[in-house]
Amino acid sequence: MTEPRITCWGTRGSIASPGPATAHYGGNTCCVEIEVGGRSLVFDAGTGIRLLGRQLVERSGSLATDVFLTHFHWDHIQGFPFFAPLYQEGASFRIMGPRQADAEIQTLFAGQMGPVYFPVPFEAIAARIDFAHLNDGTWHDGEFEVRAMRVRHPSFTVGYRINAGGRSICYVPDNELEGAKYAVDGGDWRKRFLQFVAGADLLLHDAMFTDAEYTKRIGWGHSTFRQVLDLAVESGVKRLCFFHHAPERTDAELRAIVDETRAEVERRCLPLAVDAAAEGNPITLEAGHP
Ligand SMILES: [Zn+2]
Ligand SMILES: [Zn+2]
Repeated sequence: MTEPRITCWGTRGSIASPGPATAHYGGNTCCVEIEVGGRSLVFDAGTGIRLLGRQLVERSGSLATDVFLTHFHWDHIQGFPFFAPLYQEGASFRIMGPRQADAEIQTLFAGQMGPVYFPVPFEAIAARIDFAHLNDGTWHDGEFEVRAMRVRHPSFTVGYRINAGGRSICYVPDNELEGAKYAVDGGDWRKRFLQFVAGADLLLHDAMFTDAEYTKRIGWGHSTFRQVLDLAVESGVKRLCFFHHAPERTDAELRAIVDETRAEVERRCLPLAVDAAAEGNPITLEAGHP
């Protein structure tokens, strides 16, 4: 079995934030590639997808790609018009994401390429694109299995659990684990979410705020480093990667938070590896034994 390789092409939340203070963890917004055996699935189309697009064109393989969106906030779709394979004859894509209350995902995509916002019309795209809705449930193709679950965030937003190459990866970039009220509340959301991420080999999860920052940002749809650590411990995740970094969070601050968290994990003798997602650094997960 081939080991999955995960590359974060964009790790930032809300808005791109390039500059010397964010050079290590990266300034591009959300985009993650999971590659197994030469085939890639792409998660979100923030500004990081521009870099991935260039790579896909340079790689000689097929330009048939599946793109999964968590929701339609700008930091998750804004790179799409700059995704080079769109303009390649013969390329084909399937774009999956949660249907919003009154808009199909094709309409939402075409909308951001309207003439007021962007010079190239949606009709100029040379690639073939098929759209499909995935609000809940499971998508299968070959050795990939992708499950979607609605999370606590404004608008219909999902998190994904991907099983591939004998490993499981959870990608939940926008999710407020505690506080505020959401449409999914009531019943057993937290219990179901704990089961959704349980035992994952890698969890990439929204960790936008410190505890002090969060007191003024309850209801914005994001979590704290502390809340995510608690989640990872409770659900038996093996490796936690803080994701969706706040635009103003510097590399030095993130490094200090990772160091503090690792020290706590060590003190408590927890079997958990902790890091913060860094743009362009592939993560490999040792393949499971058949
Ligand atoms: Zn976001
Ligand atoms: Zn969002």
